[in-house]
Amino acid sequence: MGSDNRYPCVLLFGPPGVGKGTQGKILANIPGFFHLSVGDVFRSIDIGSPNGKEVYNYLSRGELVPDELTIKIWKKAVGAYEALSWYKPREDLLVLDGMPRNLAQVDIVKEYLNIYKIIYLECSDEEDMIHRIRRRAIRENRADDANEDVIRHRFQLYQQVTRPVLDRYDPSMIERIDCNGSPAEVLRSILDCTIPVQNEHFRSNM
Ligand code: ADP
Repeated sequence: MGSDNRYPCVLLFGPPGVGKGTQGKILANIPGFFHLSVGDVFRSIDIGSPNGKEVYNYLSRGELVPDELTIKIWKKAVGAYEALSWYKPREDLLVLDGMPRNLAQVDIVKEYLNIYKIIYLECSDEEDMIHRIRRRAIRENRADDANEDVIRHRFQLYQQVTRPVLDRYDPSMIERIDCNGSPAEVLRSILDCTIPVQNEHFRSNM
């Protein structure tokens, strides 16, 4: 990495309801990984604060939060985790879920992220994912998961605005994983492609 002080990371990528959050939470429990979900960061903001109110308005409509605000909030959250030493960029591989989510963000994050791999969780069946999201709505009480129109709008946005992000990266960086396997099978595939990255990351810091 040399003088590169960007965060070494892998991206968790894929449509809503594909299981990024589930996998991210498992990875977060393995030493050497630090999982950060942009959606979780947004949901944790105090809804009474000015940023919180604005963010909630976008989330509840299934719209993307504007790029400038997204980056500002994301930087603040990463900085806070670093300051607390919960995230140690020299020791932990960042597993980033939810960013970049459009082409403008691809350019913005170049300054902050050293992306090694993109873990693309694929699911061919949109109805199956909508079903998963409905179950998640009950489990996690998410405002953006409760309404079918909002869910469908998020899928549209994914196809139109987020999916094209993949085309901006070298195909050799993209690891396609079928999300229809059991959580353990999906985890095994993710580990198969992230462990070598982690080893490389640590070697370069020894
Ligand atoms: P999903 O399961 O739908 O992918 P997330 O938890 O990743 O849900 O994101 C929830 C919401 O947070 C998104 O619908 C969007 O409103 C907002 N969001 C998350 N990441 C970003 C981002 N990088 N840029 C703008 N908005 C974002």
